[in-house]
Amino acid sequence: MAELIDIHAHNYYTCPNGILLLNVFPGEDEKLAHRCYFSAGLHPWHIRQDTFESNLLWVEQIAADERVIAVGETGLDKAIQVPWPLQVAVFEKQLVLAENFRKPLIIHCVRSYSEILAYRSKSDQKLPWIFHWFNASPEIANELIRKNCYLSFGHTLFNEKSKAFHVFKTLPTGCIFLETDDAGFTIQQIYERAAQVRGITTETLARQIKENFTTCFGIY
Ligand SMILES: [Zn+2]
Repeated sequence: MAELIDIHAHNYYTCPNGILLLNVFPGEDEKLAHRCYFSAGLHPWHIRQDTFESNLLWVEQIAADERVIAVGETGLDKAIQVPWPLQVAVFEKQLVLAENFRKPLIIHCVRSYSEILAYRSKSDQKLPWIFHWFNASPEIANELIRKNCYLSFGHTLFNEKSKAFHVFKTLPTGCIFLETDDAGFTIQQIYERAAQVRGITTETLARQIKENFTTCFGIY
């Protein structure tokens, strides 16, 4: 059986025997004691005028650690009160950080796909970007795939009315990741559901996603 990969988790328990990419936010340094891979970033929900500069310095320090294989989650979110110019400044800073460290970016995107796609078009390095909690239209999915981005899915696959559920059924396998995020599931449960939705075995899906992980991160 190929190892299961949890590409975006906030809890250590979600992926007991596989490959875990545990997210660390400023103030969560104790998580770095775990034995796994990490992503480190400043989430748009956590941006405060008086702390964002020191938080970004923290991200820069932590992102230098070789166990931190991605920058994020970071991104843009039109459903929150954090001022847009501040969100943009913090996102741009982490985009540059990811490029300087040559590490993929894990993106949180709510109603901001066109803005983030514009950044993607401008970026000349074309490091992989992973859109976690993808839940948008097939058109947006195709646009992102054309720009060599990955889409990550989790608990929304249990909701047959979600956009994610419909997009996931027919997506090319080469752009897929799975995640637990902070939704109370284990990665095993997410893989079983995802395999069922696509009508394939969990083993086949696990092998395909392992290949994606190798391609995206250069880790075998
Ligand atoms: Zn998350």
